[in-house]
Amino acid sequence: MKIASYDILVIGGGPAGLMAARKTSQKGVKTLLVEKEKQFGLKVCGEAASTATLTQAELFPSESFICSREINRVLVYPPQEEKKVEIYAGGIGYSGGYILNKMAFLEEMGRLALQEGTEIWMVAVANQLVRHDGLFRCTIGTAEGVQLVEAKLVIGCDGMNSLVARSFFNREGYRRISCLQYEMANCHLADPTRLEIFIGNNVAPGGYVWIFPKGEGLANVGIGTQGAPARKCLDKFIETHPQRFQKARVLSMGAAPVPIGGQIEELVQDGLMLCGDAAGQVIPLTGAGIHSAIAAGRIAGQVAAEALIEGNISREKLSAYPEQFNETWGKRITDSLKAQQLIVKLSDQELNQLADIFTGQDIVDLANGFNLARVGIKLLKYPTFAAKVARALL
Ligand SMILES: Cc1cc2nc3c(=O)[nH]c(=O)nc-3n(C[C@H](O)[C@H](O)[C@H](O)COP(=O)(O)OP(=O)(O)OC[C@H]3O[C@@H](n4cnc5c(N)ncnc54)[C@H](O)[C@@H]3O)c2cc1C
Repeated sequence: MKIASYDILVIGGGPAGLMAARKTSQKGVKTLLVEKEKQFGLKVCGEAASTATLTQAELFPSESFICSREINRVLVYPPQEEKKVEIYAGGIGYSGGYILNKMAFLEEMGRLALQEGTEIWMVAVANQLVRHDGLFRCTIGTAEGVQLVEAKLVIGCDGMNSLVARSFFNREGYRRISCLQYEMANCHLADPTRLEIFIGNNVAPGGYVWIFPKGEGLANVGIGTQGAPARKCLDKFIETHPQRFQKARVLSMGAAPVPIGGQIEELVQDGLMLCGDAAGQVIPLTGAGIHSAIAAGRIAGQVAAEALIEGNISREKLSAYPEQFNETWGKRITDSLKAQQLIVKLSDQELNQLADIFTGQDIVDLANGFNLARVGIKLLKYPTFAAKVARALL
């Protein structure tokens, strides 16, 4: 069988892979990206992204891939919904974000990677990856039959069920939460520039329900939950919120898990790198992973290309990728995981009490793992939370 040779093989055309391939190609390194689907972005997603995500992707906001501009508020509802807490992005120094059209967004990222010189194979499934004579050999199923690809370095950006991770990395502690989402039309949403999040053991045990508006009554309405049937919980939520959903109808449904166990320990080996969901690089409490995946792909791509050009693709050399990624993301992911593990243990009554205590800033810090100690010190004053939550945050 004929073998196609590349410097770098990127497996997976999600946010991580498309960014990684753009960066390797920018440095003139011969790169192939393989994506198993016929289109980018088919995996279901809430599609919420901060303005910083676009900056990270080196993209200007464009109508062509943004559904809702100027998302600048989030309402977080505890079980007793009238106790809701409002987070106003501008009030706490953030510039808000968007609801993307993720397919179009990834299409644009694909176009930029192509423009830099990446070769892209769609409907191309990486089936087997082995080391062979100092290179990697990958068997790829395509419409034209099985193809054999050889590469000096492989970047695994192949999501939850990553072939690269299963073949070469230890994913001990890798945990996932089941998520299900409806795209709904005719929703009656009071404010189309506002995200809504609902928490509580009756609503979404171990997770939350989200309503992300996409304009003109369209919304992504989804749930992440642990130990409870996602669809049943989401249907019940919709039924019990008739003011928003009485006239609404489901246009499409999708389900996929999100890794919420934190980042795995080793992200590189000789000639190998792992990025994005495949490596657990998601903010555990929110389940957000687009921004971190793009950040990881960007750094991994740059480090990989430089290493190849220098002729040293050893684990030590490639470790520059986790080092640089962790400067910004490592503690955020670890701290958000810590907060998530504490929050899931709280009763509905305790969640209601927290809503009385918390400001929007507290929630943002906790969810994103920004400043746990500050929130911990605040909670020390409340006997219910001092031992159960506060000390663990300090
Ligand atoms: C229901 C849901 C809602 C979410 N909402 C949000 C949100 O609102 N905001 C946010 O920031 N994050 C959200 N996320 C998380 C976000 O989608 C991911 O963290 C992000 O997409 C990770 O990017 P990635 O490139 O690592 O992986 P993925 O996006 O999973 O991309 C992996 C790609 O690899 C391809 N692939 C897999 N195996 C192979 C193979 N063997 N050969 C070839 N190709 C392969 C897949 O088809 C896929 O295109 C959500 C996730 C879910 C499930």
